[in-house]
Amino acid sequence: MYTGGYAGKILRINLTDKTAKEEALPLEVSKNFIGGAGLGIKYLFDELQPHVDPLGPENKLIISVGPFTGSSIPSTSRLNITSKSPQTNAVGSALSGGYFPAEMKFAGYDALIVEGKAEKPTYIWIKDSEVNFRNAAKVWGLKTSDCQQIIKDDLKDQNIRCMCIGPAGENLSKMACIINERRAAGRKGLGAVMGSKNLKAIAIRGTGTVAVADQEKFKSAKKAMTDSMKASPVLYPVFSKVGSSCAFDATTDLGIFSSKNWTGTGEFVPKDGIGLEAQGQAKVGHAHCYGCPVGCGQLMLARKGSYAGILSEGPEFETQYAFGGQTGVDNLDAVIVADHLSDELGLDTISTGVTIGFAMELFEKGILTMEDTGGLELNFGNHETMVKLVQMIAFRQGIGDLLADGVKAAAEKIGKGSEKFAMHVKGLELPAYDVRGAKAHALNYATAYPGADHNKGYAAQEIFGMPIPYEVDRLGYEGKGKLCKWNQDVQCATADCPTICSFVVLMALLHNGTDVVADLMEGLTGLSYTPDEIYEVGERVNNLCRAFNVREGFTRSDDTLPERLLTEPIPGGPSKGQLISKEDLKQMLDEYYTARGWDQTNGVPTREKLTELGLGYVADQLKL
Ligand code: SF4
Repeated sequence: MYTGGYAGKILRINLTDKTAKEEALPLEVSKNFIGGAGLGIKYLFDELQPHVDPLGPENKLIISVGPFTGSSIPSTSRLNITSKSPQTNAVGSALSGGYFPAEMKFAGYDALIVEGKAEKPTYIWIKDSEVNFRNAAKVWGLKTSDCQQIIKDDLKDQNIRCMCIGPAGENLSKMACIINERRAAGRKGLGAVMGSKNLKAIAIRGTGTVAVADQEKFKSAKKAMTDSMKASPVLYPVFSKVGSSCAFDATTDLGIFSSKNWTGTGEFVPKDGIGLEAQGQAKVGHAHCYGCPVGCGQLMLARKGSYAGILSEGPEFETQYAFGGQTGVDNLDAVIVADHLSDELGLDTISTGVTIGFAMELFEKGILTMEDTGGLELNFGNHETMVKLVQMIAFRQGIGDLLADGVKAAAEKIGKGSEKFAMHVKGLELPAYDVRGAKAHALNYATAYPGADHNKGYAAQEIFGMPIPYEVDRLGYEGKGKLCKWNQDVQCATADCPTICSFVVLMALLHNGTDVVADLMEGLTGLSYTPDEIYEVGERVNNLCRAFNVREGFTRSDDTLPERLLTEPIPGGPSKGQLISKEDLKQMLDEYYTARGWDQTNGVPTREKLTELGLGYVADQLKL
């Protein structure tokens, strides 16, 4: 029986027959997977048949929060959305903050499992234990902010929290994301999964609270966490003022801010146009997720020409890279507008910007012509075309249709050797860090279960010099296999499962996160763990995600990097000359698989490892 933290309930929603039923969340599942990303993969692996069409009714959308969500622990209003990704066919897992996660807990649920497909555009309205299926004709086709507002007006409650898709998700763009307020659960095309189910939105309102199992223990555990947050030299002094843009200076100083579809790193560095100084001038306020004292969201206003007056929450660092660096656009106003449009149309900014940069390179190389682009000049630096393309992609207009599913799918259609210039791993476009100059980051891009996702094992040791668990040389290879495993497991166990914001974990809890989470779990939920057992949850979740991918047919050969990173050195700047040879990548992978206890030839978890983690049934399924 649950005495705190958890709601103890899952809501299973079937869109095909418009039914909803509550199920108990088994204690053993909570103990082994904690919540968030852990709950998501546990249900996805156990319930999804192998090889289902990600855009078919058999796919499921699992929205899960953690035991900490909605409690008074700071920075924990986070949710995880798990599904089979239409972009990669691997585990699609996307995190988001905002107010929806806390509201979902107040409504009494640890997870919503959405199944089937509605006959007509629909939205789901959950008010505590009441569930209604409502006609979404009025909001279908609308931008995300209009959709959320109209739903609140229709239901006559401005405190309702909504998550929804925009036109991109309705048009099944595999780069579509899911938006709640202005927060995105991005990457991996999960907005298209919602669109394929004819599900425009989920609106939620709850009146419950989160119980605490042991007030004294909880109070002291929470104090340890807030003390660590206050002691961080970056969390409040820097990050809460400039948000994730603090990585802009770090990566440009190291010469690993990628640009011009990864041909211009160190040479095209748009510091003057979109760097911290320009952002400071554009900033008009900041935004918080529910219960977060950090408030890293940066509200920026475009001020010049036809862009003047457009406000966006962001662009955050990865968006600056995608719509600035990748496209060669040194114009912050254009980046603000592209960011705003992406949020409104429901597109992931990283994938969209990288895909536009890819198209620009093809245009400059003559692989795409004016005939292909419908007369658009697609040169690097053309900010007007960049902004226009965001809309064309969301609505699948003209060349936007060709680009709407990301670089891998576009290269397959275009041919003519374009795959060489498609910057992705497992179909997911690369984030900002030019990993030729940060080798543990490279290994993480190659091995992270969703594809190239910097958030699944961020190597802060290489970017910010954090000597935890040990000091590393960002350009060295030795020890990177073990480090990558440690980063992936710790971040999963301390951020993605209990749902502490990963920014807070990285900046304040990297040294003591497993202790803090163990103590918080005991105080809040009454479930006791050692710090090592918390770490093991991360390892268990990463192994189960790997097993899902293995079941879908992924092998060691998918743990790789785009050809460009293995053959072309960084052209300029402080990391000039760096690349990752195939042999170096092989050595890092060997070390990583050894650290993970996975088979060296295929990168498959061994029966011994799965059994040690309590996943013997998974070994049976994989016929190991
Ligand atoms: S640090 Fe930023 S992203 Fe994280 S919970 Fe706080 S406001 Fe949200």
